[in-house]
Amino acid sequence: MTATSFHTPSIIELSYDAIAHNLSFIKRFVKKNVRISSVVKGNAYGHGIEIYVPAAEHCGIDHFSVFSIDEAERVLSVKQPETAVMIMGWIPPEGLIWVLENDMEFWVFEPERLKEALKLADKLGVKARIHIELETGMNRTGFGPYELNEIWPLLRTYKDAYVLEGLCTHLAGAESIANHVRIQRQIKRFRLMTGLFKDRGYQAKSLHAASSAATIVYPAFQFDMVRVGILQYGYWPSKETFIHYVSRRKKKIDPLDRIISWKSSVMAVKHVRQGEFVSYGTTYLATEDKTIAIVPTGYSHGYSRALSNSGRILIHGQRVAVIGMINMNMLIADVSSLRDVVVGDEVVLIGKQEHQTISVASFSELSNQLNYELLTRLPAGILRRLTP
Ligand SMILES: *Cc1c(COP(=O)(O)O)cnc(C)c1O
Repeated sequence: MTATSFHTPSIIELSYDAIAHNLSFIKRFVKKNVRISSVVKGNAYGHGIEIYVPAAEHCGIDHFSVFSIDEAERVLSVKQPETAVMIMGWIPPEGLIWVLENDMEFWVFEPERLKEALKLADKLGVKARIHIELETGMNRTGFGPYELNEIWPLLRTYKDAYVLEGLCTHLAGAESIANHVRIQRQIKRFRLMTGLFKDRGYQAKSLHAASSAATIVYPAFQFDMVRVGILQYGYWPSKETFIHYVSRRKKKIDPLDRIISWKSSVMAVKHVRQGEFVSYGTTYLATEDKTIAIVPTGYSHGYSRALSNSGRILIHGQRVAVIGMINMNMLIADVSSLRDVVVGDEVVLIGKQEHQTISVASFSELSNQLNYELLTRLPAGILRRLTP
């Protein structure tokens, strides 16, 4: 470890126990013979690709999904040889050769890209491991029904240059019942379009459509593989999804555990007189004498400015208030209610301390952000480590 990575003002810890717990819940929940692809785009939702991937492999995961080629490279650098990696999104033209030579699975959603990939694979004498994305109603990427006519000749001409790993689609919001009709219509189209491949004798190794929400809410849409992101990190895609799950169970408890803890420490303690303002500007006035603790974590570290005067952190096992504006590198907490806070005392920004917990959910409800967004905004530069 280099000196620069050894000391960061805060640290992110991943609990191996929680990872194993969540993955075993997901394994029990999905139907038999449904493969789980662990979605680790966005730096494994902020958890850290290089730490999360080997830990998940240890729990039996052998397929990972990323958005782009840079993320795929990072997975490749830590994964076991037999583990598969699937790129669901962006590959620049000059990256195709790397994708093919490294046996990456990848989504194609444009005729031109399919052609380039098959041509290049043919030239290199390798097989392109393609997943053909079908446009079923999300209206983002994917081949629409009329574009399929451009696919057939390519698949015929280059029949030795690819393996049809999958036919897939993405659902536009399975986490909300408000989208029910739209989702049903997407699946209907998916079945229709995948049927066209079958009719022509193209048998894909897997059909897949479900992310976390659909895995839970529409088990019939799990097909051969599910692409699970947020659930494996211990969060529900939405409150609705959790309620859907728990209302059908005897035990009304959350079966998931949070993996991440984000910790820092007190860097300075001081006393502020009644009538003084704290931090930039005049947003916080000490209405009585206060003891404050300065913590070396600010918005540049992913602690949102929106939590100014409203965030909560844990010190000495107690929940204390963040006061004043969040700075670029520091925040200030009111520790007047605690005794003997000293420099070096542990601060929990997310996670547990004694009997108290700060969840990303409560943290993000305060600042009106989704778990997804907040987690992925945790900077990659914060030191991460795996704990038992
Ligand atoms: C992000 C993503 C997923 C995973 O979504 P979660 O809601 O986190 O489970 C699945 N499929 C695609 C195409 C994605 O982009």
